[in-house]
Amino acid sequence: MEKIMNTDVLVAGAGGTGLAAAYAAAQQGSSVIIIEKQDKIGGNTKISSGFFAIDSQEQRDAGLKLTTKEAIAQLAEYNHFLSNGALLAKIVNTSADTLAWIEKMGMEIKLNPTSKTTQFAHRNDNYRGGSYHMYQNKEKSYQKIEETLKNIGVKFVFNTSMKDLLLENNQITGIKAEKDSQELIIKAKSVVVATGGYGGDFNKVSKTMHTNKLRKLGVPNNGEGIDAMVKAGGVDIDSHALIHASQLAKSTVTQNSSTKHLAGFSSNPLTQLLLTPQLWVNKKGVRFANEDVVYDTVEWANAAWSQGGIYFFIVDQNTLDTFTKNKNLEEVSQAGPGATTDSGDFTQLANDAVAGKTAFTGQTLDELAENAGLNKEAFKDSVTKYNLAIENKNDQEFSKSAKSLLYSIKKGPFYAFIAQATYLGTVGGVRVDEDLAVLDKELKPIPGLYTGGANAGGYYEGHSYPAFEGLASGFTWTSGRIAGTNAAIYANKIGKTNE
Ligand SMILES: Cc1cc2nc3c(=O)[nH]c(=O)nc-3n(C[C@H](O)[C@H](O)[C@H](O)COP(=O)(O)OP(=O)(O)OC[C@H]3O[C@@H](n4cnc5c(N)ncnc54)[C@H](O)[C@@H]3O)c2cc1C
Repeated sequence: MEKIMNTDVLVAGAGGTGLAAAYAAAQQGSSVIIIEKQDKIGGNTKISSGFFAIDSQEQRDAGLKLTTKEAIAQLAEYNHFLSNGALLAKIVNTSADTLAWIEKMGMEIKLNPTSKTTQFAHRNDNYRGGSYHMYQNKEKSYQKIEETLKNIGVKFVFNTSMKDLLLENNQITGIKAEKDSQELIIKAKSVVVATGGYGGDFNKVSKTMHTNKLRKLGVPNNGEGIDAMVKAGGVDIDSHALIHASQLAKSTVTQNSSTKHLAGFSSNPLTQLLLTPQLWVNKKGVRFANEDVVYDTVEWANAAWSQGGIYFFIVDQNTLDTFTKNKNLEEVSQAGPGATTDSGDFTQLANDAVAGKTAFTGQTLDELAENAGLNKEAFKDSVTKYNLAIENKNDQEFSKSAKSLLYSIKKGPFYAFIAQATYLGTVGGVRVDEDLAVLDKELKPIPGLYTGGANAGGYYEGHSYPAFEGLASGFTWTSGRIAGTNAAIYANKIGKTNE
């Protein structure tokens, strides 16, 4: 039997975007219902580590002088001015205030010193590393947030999935949802769709990213929200996977970040080879990047994506022996979830990987190429040029730093390990204005429809996520807050018109 509920503002999804939207709308005096597919709040935001903010109290206390002007300029330039500048400026300009606001809501936060960034490429870079405000005591913080919202009157409806938007005379009038296999209609004056993209739908991601070789992490957001907004007239301008580092093929996931959904890559010591700048070649056997990008999760994943999301890292017996003897001199990246520092018999581990079909071996380069399906001539040419770069400490082709030109490929047996780019859900989505109102194809707001976080387009443009730490998670709360405020202002206006 169909059930009907009524509210001023309906929020779909209780991740960072939805929680911020619900709180902001309630603070404006609106009645608010928030529905959530799972039986608890948090979504991917709860798995994420930190919040991007500029000119926060925490930064000032730490003596960091970061201006929003500089951050906006850097981000606009990173995105080649393809991002929505009005939205970008508003998000950056309100980020510090939103940080203080979510702290009041119950979130405990601590600024990460740039010297401690796990992304070595961001060390001593105040904007890329010094903007990362890390969430603390997440279980307790999220409990407090839920209490704060309940205390202000927000009504939570769990285990309930939004299926569609209700539209009358081009005006949003609520949503259609499903709870316990029954239809639930929630009538609302405005709606914030905060369902967090479609990272849970591997087929959709493969289609947007033009490859089925990526590996996924995160909660099962399947894109019902974006689909409904597009059906209502919104335009998906830039949704894409948030690619982040790479994994060993078939890695055993070890870190339990939420009861059902796992984050974290592998506890195999071979991660030390994955996370050091060894020689990388693509499926053909051709070298394609300065492997020092392994020190930055975004640049690393982007380089992997450029080759279809999959590549091989190549080592010889000498390198395996060096790692077995714990004599490696290259810095092991801590990008992504980082490598395990456990020691091990790397030859044994490599042979186990070959047996598990996640690596290939050969006594000669020809034999390795044959076994891994590489083009023999192209592969041998890549190895020759790479060995020359190591001898001369000068990488003519890709400008790899001299300190990373350590391990030549000379003594068999040789090994090629499969690495695959990983993604943390999707980001981007429907075109919005700086108030997070969803725009139709004529660039007009669809009355009553707002979104944010991993459903909103225009903040990151193209298939590349800017390498600034906490950017997605920061956008989530800040855009949700703006969306919720404007949804409440709109609901209030509609309410008055109807009176
Ligand atoms: C493992 C991992 C680590 C990450 N680390 C970082 C990081 O350190 N820094 C950073 O900036 N970003 C990080 N991200 C990305 C960032 O967390 C997300 O981009 C951001 O949290 C998205 O927020 P959101 O509110 O849009 O979505 P979510 O937080 O995912 O919230 C969406 C909510 O909607 C619910 N939902 C989905 N569909 C429906 C439906 N049909 N009806 C009702 N409810 C629905 C979901 O269950 C979920 O609770 C990480 C992501 C992952 C997966």
